[in-house]
Amino acid sequence: MPENSKSSQTPQKEFTDLKLNKQLLMATQEAGYEKPTPIQAKAIPSILSGHDILGIAQTGTGKTAAFVLPILKKLTYAQGENPRALILTPTRELAIQIDNHIAQLAKYTDLRHVCVFGGTGFKKQIEEIEKGVDILTATPGRLMDIYFREVLILKQLKILVLDEADKMTDMGFMPQVRRLLEIIPTKRQNLLFSATMPNKVVELAHEFLEFPQRIEVTPQATTAETVEQSVYFVPNTRTKINLLMKFLENENFSRVIVFVRTKRNATNIGKYLTRKLTDEVRIIHANKGQNMRINAMNDFKTGTVRVLVATDVSSRGIDIQEVSHVINFDLPRLHEDYVHRIGRTGRAFRTGEAISFCNDAEKYHLRKIQELIRMTITIKDFPDNVEITETPKEERQEMLREIDTQKKKDNPKFKGAFHDKKSKKTSNSKNSRKPKKSSSKSRSSRRRRR
Ligand code: AMP
Repeated sequence: MPENSKSSQTPQKEFTDLKLNKQLLMATQEAGYEKPTPIQAKAIPSILSGHDILGIAQTGTGKTAAFVLPILKKLTYAQGENPRALILTPTRELAIQIDNHIAQLAKYTDLRHVCVFGGTGFKKQIEEIEKGVDILTATPGRLMDIYFREVLILKQLKILVLDEADKMTDMGFMPQVRRLLEIIPTKRQNLLFSATMPNKVVELAHEFLEFPQRIEVTPQATTAETVEQSVYFVPNTRTKINLLMKFLENENFSRVIVFVRTKRNATNIGKYLTRKLTDEVRIIHANKGQNMRINAMNDFKTGTVRVLVATDVSSRGIDIQEVSHVINFDLPRLHEDYVHRIGRTGRAFRTGEAISFCNDAEKYHLRKIQELIRMTITIKDFPDNVEITETPKEERQEMLREIDTQKKKDNPKFKGAFHDKKSKKTSNSKNSRKPKKSSSKSRSSRRRRR
C-alpha cells in the first residue's frame, strides 16, 4: 500500500553516523533516543551541509530534533547578543515544546535559548532577550511586536525555521512571516517543515527556499504508522457522550485527549466529565489564559490528570508521550487537523489508538479525511451496552442543514433536501412525529440491528 510505505525509510543509522559532537550525543542518549528516526537520519546531514530544506513530516516523527540538533551543532557555542537561529511556530504550545526540546538537547552546551509567544507578559520575554540569545523560538505575532519595540536585532540571523507551515498559513500568519522576511538578512539557511503540502505552502516554499532538498519521511498527510484508527457511527451528541463515558470506564484509557471542534463543546463536555468522573479533567482552548493552558498540559503530562479536552487550536502543540487514546468527539472540518490530532498518540516508536465519533453530518468529513490520508478507517460496531439517545429536533435540523451545505459544495446546482423535508413535514406532520413517540421501542430494535 502506498500509505505508510516502508520504502520511505532509510536504513537504520546511528546518531554517531551523523557528525554530531560529543555534547549532543550525550544529550540524545540522555533523552533516551537510541537511534535517529527516519527524518533525523535524512535531515541532519543535509542541514549540516548547508542546504535549504523542505521537510514533509507530521509531528511524532522526531522532526523537532531533526532541525534542533544540526542547529545546535552549527552554532556550537554562545556568541554575541543577538539570535543566530530563529524558529517560527504557529502556536504557543508548540513554541514551548520546541524550546523544551532545545533545553534538553543543548544541555551540555552553553547555547542560550529563549521562547516568546503571545498571551503572557512582554516584560519578562524582553528581559530574557536582552540577556543575550543564540536560538529564539517564537510565534509570529509576538515576535513582530517585540521587534517593533526595537529590543530585538535580527541582523545576525543565519538560520530560519518555519515549523508547521501549513498551520501557519491556516492561521493567517503569512503577512507577519512575509514582513519578517523583509527585515532579516537574505543570506541565510531556510528550513521549512509542514505535515501537509496545500497550495499555499507550495507557494511559500517557492518564495522562501533556495534549491531546497525535499525530505519526506512518509507520503503527504499519512498518519503515524503506530496509530490504530477506528470510527463509530453515533447519531447525536448525547449518544456521543454515552459512548465516551463507556470508554472512560475502561482503565486502559489511561491518558486520553478528547478533541472537540468548538470552544463551547470543549467547555460543556469538560464540565460534564468533571461532574461524572472521579478523575480530574482539564480543558484547553483558545479562550483559556496562557497560564491555565500551560498548567493543564503539565498536569496532563505528569499524569495528575487522565483526561484532557482540547480544541484544534491547541492540538498542534501537545507533545505528551504515552497518550493512550485520542478520541475525536467531533471530526475536524479542517481535514488536515485529523492528522495532527491523531499524531498526539503513537508518537516516536510508541503505539496508540485514535477513535473517532461520526454523526450523519460528519460522514462527509470522514470521506474527505480518508481521501486525504489515503486509507480507510476501520468502522466499529456500536456497543450493545451503550444507550442510544433520541436525536433532539434542533440537532437533527442542524445536521440536515449541514448535509445540505455539503451537498451544495459538491454540486452547486443542488437545491437542498433540508427544505424539501421541511415542507413535506408540514404537509404530513403526523407521520413525521411517529419515530419520536416510539422512541424506546425503536431504540432497542435499532440496538439489536447494530
Ligand atoms: P516531534 O515529532 O519532534 O514532535 O517528536 C515526537 C517525540 O519523539 C518527542 O517526544 C521526542 O522527544 C521523541 N523523539 C525524537 N527523536 C527521537 C528518537 N530518535 N528516538 C526516540 N524518541 C525520539
